[in-house]
Amino acid sequence: MRLDDDVQFLKGVGPRAGLTLKKLGIATLQDMLEYLPFRYEDRRHFRAISDAKPGEWLSLKGRIIELNEDRRKGQFSITRAALSDGKQAIRLIWFNQKWIKPTLQKHGGEVIVYGQVKDATFGLEMASPEYELVASDASPEDFARITPIYRLKDGVPQKLVRRAASGAIAAIPPTLTDMLPEALRKRYGLMPLQQAYKSVHFPQTEDEFVQARRRLVFDEFLLLQLSLAMRHAEQGIEPGIGFEIPDTVIAEMRSALPFDFTDAQKRVIREIFRDMIRPHPMNRLLQGDVGSGKTAVAASAILAAVRAGYQAALMAPTEILAEQHYSNLKTLFEPLGLDVELLVGKQTAAQKRKAIDRTSSGLALVAIGTHALIQEGVSFQKLGLVVVDEQHRFGVLQRAALRMKGYGNPDVLVMTATPIPRTLTLTLYGDLDLSVIDEMPPGRKPIKTHWKMPTERASVYRSVRQLIDTTKAQVYVVCPLVSESEKMLAQAAEELYRHLSEDVFADLRVGLLHGQMKAKEKEAAMDAFRKHELDVLVSTTVIEVGVDVPNANIMVIEDANRFGLAQLHQLRGRVGRGERQSFCILIGAASTPDGEARLRVMTETTDGFRIAEEDLKIRGPGELYGTKQSGDLGLKLADLLKDGKVLEEARQAALAIVEKDPTLHKPEHGLIRKALEDKGAENARTDVS
Ligand code: ADP
Ligand code: MG
Repeated sequence: MRLDDDVQFLKGVGPRAGLTLKKLGIATLQDMLEYLPFRYEDRRHFRAISDAKPGEWLSLKGRIIELNEDRRKGQFSITRAALSDGKQAIRLIWFNQKWIKPTLQKHGGEVIVYGQVKDATFGLEMASPEYELVASDASPEDFARITPIYRLKDGVPQKLVRRAASGAIAAIPPTLTDMLPEALRKRYGLMPLQQAYKSVHFPQTEDEFVQARRRLVFDEFLLLQLSLAMRHAEQGIEPGIGFEIPDTVIAEMRSALPFDFTDAQKRVIREIFRDMIRPHPMNRLLQGDVGSGKTAVAASAILAAVRAGYQAALMAPTEILAEQHYSNLKTLFEPLGLDVELLVGKQTAAQKRKAIDRTSSGLALVAIGTHALIQEGVSFQKLGLVVVDEQHRFGVLQRAALRMKGYGNPDVLVMTATPIPRTLTLTLYGDLDLSVIDEMPPGRKPIKTHWKMPTERASVYRSVRQLIDTTKAQVYVVCPLVSESEKMLAQAAEELYRHLSEDVFADLRVGLLHGQMKAKEKEAAMDAFRKHELDVLVSTTVIEVGVDVPNANIMVIEDANRFGLAQLHQLRGRVGRGERQSFCILIGAASTPDGEARLRVMTETTDGFRIAEEDLKIRGPGELYGTKQSGDLGLKLADLLKDGKVLEEARQAALAIVEKDPTLHKPEHGLIRKALEDKGAENARTDVS
């Protein structure tokens, strides 16, 4: 058979089952081969029910000795059963699965169930277990071996997928070629491709499926890393700007800044300058935890570009942040004689006109803005450096759009504040060079974080008031994430503001900030808070990124359980920026184990990288950072959580290949090149749709 032949032609499948498999996205032989089991069950040995302990996830085998169904008002149903292995029984319970009772009744034979064992009132219980009927004529791939378990939906039977997998293995065309050269396979200890498919679906031993999966995941990572490495290599030889950076730039920065650079800041500035001097476009990612001082580093690069005779642009994800960058850089650069211009969506037409005139004529040397910067009509005279303060909100396309406005091929520096696990960095930004600020400015005291129940709110407010009275503390109160809608959020913020300003803190100076306010009002509120004309700022998450008021040292987050971990970390990063002890108080009752885990992690660490790793563990890479699924990253098999080591190996292999053979034209890389081209074509197709 050919890899793209329809699954219905596999042995044991047929037209009807073929249609069923398509519900899982399995249309061809190749799809079936690549539909990997998500776990395995060792059906050579089952545990005795008497050995099962509460909390364990287990497969048990036995016969149903009791079975009944409770229907309430014809709507809600509960199916209860008892499974016995001959010595002891365990209760099983399903909700609203009306077909279970007839199915089990009709079957009558042995059953395998999988689920979590719980201690219930009358002994052990499993709620909503997966189940599989053991047919009296069960085929060997179904029992007495390590059995693959596939992810299912829409009532597709486990056994059908298993049968199709078995058929697919038998149908692998002898011409199926392994794209990996043997030397590479040997170096990384990877099994041949055909063997890998076979072992991943029907392994003899545990080690075999681990190795098989590793091989397949390696292939997937290798292709991804190769395309990133090739793009990187291409950019490295494209002509770009070789900035002639005067030696005086650093001295100028030091005279303008009220502090000395940390060693880490100095190191990354050197890395950035080295790139800027080279006559090829810079593509660098600047990573550093919240508050590590990325802005000053970006400002140094901007000054360097300007002193070399070019314009620079800084693009921020929100208006508030753009305005803040604008006011910071204006303060910093004006004494040095540099003109800074702001471009945001909410400006009046006249303001925009003026800003655009000044950037296109080259009068403004530095332009700061939101995505308004990449809109039609904005042009530059000699744009040489683009800084993107990205925070995962801009995509590659927007980066490219801004680059198009450049003079020739401008240098690009991307800043991300949320530390992201290395596996994700390599996947999302693998085509960029990486600079990491791994040191905090001196004198920072770790933020003390407390988690309080909603019932303790009054006492939280009392402590906050005491700190304001005795230490002149400045406080952010972050409103709950009541809804996705900006309007609802604004309403909630206004309500909380009224309550705090008229009631709880009536004698204090309380301000309000939310996304629906006019740009002027927002600016005024931020300004007042910055000048310490406010004690308390009630705000929505608009302050999440970048806002920098070093004197603010207390943050209260309402309904903290509704926020994601990365977001909580970002928010908390707004305090702990000065020399004073800072506090973060999370108010919220965690309603789920995940919610509890998030709040607990927050109280345990302020290390952004650890928080990112925990976030990855709790949420999985799928939901992280706007990449809804690993599929969005072009990954079908790999799991960024589990496969970090394979990713490192694949990256190493990819870099070595590209170094020796940048265009993959050596014969031993022919199959890899073809696989990349096929993948490119596939991506192009899905991009269009
Ligand atoms: P990031 O953008 O990385 O979150 P910022 O650039 O906003 O961090 O810097 C956080 C705060 O630390 C700012 O108030 C900034 O002025 C200050 N800062 C930056 N670098 C230093 C340094 N080397 N020494 C002291 N303070 C610094
Ligand atoms: Mg910043």
